[in-house]
Amino acid sequence: MATTRKTQSAADVFASRRTRLYRQLCKDSKATAYVVTRVADVRYLTGFSGEGLVLLAPGDDALVPYWFFGEQAQTECGAQPKLTVVDPTRNPFENVAKHIRGKGVRAVGVQAEELTVVRQTALQKAIGKKTLTPMPNLQGYLRLLKTDAEVRTIRKAVRVAQTALGDMANLGASYLVGRSELDIAAELECRMKQLGANGLGFPSIVAAGSNSSRCHHSPSNRKLKMGDPLLIDWGAMVGGYRSDLTRTLFMGTIPPKIAAIYPVVLEANREAIKAVRSGITCATLDGIARKVIEDAGYGKEFCHGLGHGLGLDVHEQPFLGKQNKTRLKAGMLITIEPGIYFPGIGGVRIEDDVLVTPDGYKLLSTFPKDLDHVVLD
Ligand code: ZN
Ligand code: ZN
Repeated sequence: MATTRKTQSAADVFASRRTRLYRQLCKDSKATAYVVTRVADVRYLTGFSGEGLVLLAPGDDALVPYWFFGEQAQTECGAQPKLTVVDPTRNPFENVAKHIRGKGVRAVGVQAEELTVVRQTALQKAIGKKTLTPMPNLQGYLRLLKTDAEVRTIRKAVRVAQTALGDMANLGASYLVGRSELDIAAELECRMKQLGANGLGFPSIVAAGSNSSRCHHSPSNRKLKMGDPLLIDWGAMVGGYRSDLTRTLFMGTIPPKIAAIYPVVLEANREAIKAVRSGITCATLDGIARKVIEDAGYGKEFCHGLGHGLGLDVHEQPFLGKQNKTRLKAGMLITIEPGIYFPGIGGVRIEDDVLVTPDGYKLLSTFPKDLDHVVLD
């Protein structure tokens, strides 16, 4: 799992990622230059946190920042080996064309899923007769296995998220009841930033009462009442890396229908986490959680996959679904998030972040989830 040597500087890490990717892509396709436009991939290959593209090319690579991002690109990446940080122009593809001119490039790889028709047309115009060929996004490629340094950063993102919500939950139900979902989300997000997050892992889901049955609820003006479930799916971003957790809290008491499903979801969550190991397929792992929920009679109400990879993107490969035969490997970092939802009544989801290790797993999230801890007084 650990591909980063302790002595390697961050700049060397980025350079070696680019070299590895370039070699791999040259093997897999006819292209000898690659335009990487996916934001998270650009950051993975250069550390650049602004907007721009990376061009992998014979000789040296180029970071082509978009308009207004030139100074930031120079500051963050100007000293990296084998990377030219070009001055931005209005049309970044002209910079691409300039950088590969005279290098014998006939085919240019692009991330087909990222390139709009407008941008593809502009790129084609800039490079003339050279052909464009599709290449994969890096999340299913190099980014699948996390290095020790990446895991440390994600751990920090988990810690920040947990502390932020933990501090609010410790203030009890009376601190939260009467406030809107939007208000609770705003405080949670503010606390994460005060604790060191650079941003959010993703837009927070704060769902009170019957809204907790909606898997992707956007916080609203609905006010939290005593007796309500409060489903919070939240995460912090630290250094570009994300955490992604869900807890379902209760204000004073639990509605009876929800009280019946909470232990089922918790057992599905725990059984799946215990089964995480290198070699198990995503489908098998999903099946372990799904069986617990189906045996309790709620199979239809568990309407999504068990989890997903986590890293520079909040949703990355591998996706833990019924059909995915991919085998987990040490170094993958995944979420385990079973749920049961009753539309119009409410739902429960419990989500943890888990690292696959050579001999099993390491649970990165430690926010309490036993029933005694999630019912706030
Ligand atoms: Zn989540
Ligand atoms: Zn998730």
